[in-house]
Amino acid sequence: MRWGAGPRRRVGVMGGTFDPVHHGHLVSASEVMESFSLDEVIFVPTGEQPFKEHRRVTPAEHRYLMTVVATASNPRFTVSRMEIDRPGKSYTIDTLRELKRQLPGADLFFITGADVLPQILTWKDADELWSLAHFIGVTRPGHTLDRTGLPETGLSLLEVPAMAISSTDCRARVVDGKPVWYLVPDGVVQYIAKHGLYRPETARVDDVAERRGRAVNEGTTARTALPPRAVGAGQ
Ligand code: ATP
Ligand code: MG
Repeated sequence: MRWGAGPRRRVGVMGGTFDPVHHGHLVSASEVMESFSLDEVIFVPTGEQPFKEHRRVTPAEHRYLMTVVATASNPRFTVSRMEIDRPGKSYTIDTLRELKRQLPGADLFFITGADVLPQILTWKDADELWSLAHFIGVTRPGHTLDRTGLPETGLSLLEVPAMAISSTDCRARVVDGKPVWYLVPDGVVQYIAKHGLYRPETARVDDVAERRGRAVNEGTTARTALPPRAVGAGQ
């Protein structure tokens, strides 16, 4: 810790649904930590949000605990309950304001993937975001990292090792009975199995719809066909 004298503490903030957390998230955080000489990265799972883009999101407590499990071995990774414990809808601006209050001597670095970067301008109080944190956009396979329309200052772009992993795909793989070993940390594989997350009977509507679409497109056989009403049970 370097509170008081010496350089200001440099704290990364990695927001996400983390449903589930995977190695794309962890590599991004680790690379930014190294490249920007951060002292730590705080993972901030989003709060209870019943739906995200029309799909049912896993309860926040599970997403939080998976993120704790995934980051436990790295002494410079921590997980915040801030958004989970905040009543109502969570906005990044509120999280950054709260972190500024909690860490008055720190410089904040908000980490975001190439898919999310263009959306920042639509976020609540977008103009103020840039004064609270330096933003770092990282590369993500399938997405172009582009700063068009975004401020000249207050934003850096960083190429990170390409991890073609998404939580959506991890969930779909569990639905399909495929392994998620090595896509997510071992402890997260075990957490998913222990709590029966993402199984067909608890799968979210859009994951199954996406899978159905894929099965049709790929002409997949009965092994991957879902029973008609195996969806939407929720948790
Ligand atoms: P979902 O498919 O459910 O949207 P996701 O894999 O996109 O999940 P999120 O929790 O939505 O994961 O993402 C949190 C943050 O991590 C976002 O800024 C996102 O752009 C970034 N991110 C996610 N996956 C990767 C990856 N493979 N490489 C780089 N950044 C990533
Ligand atoms: Mg996403």
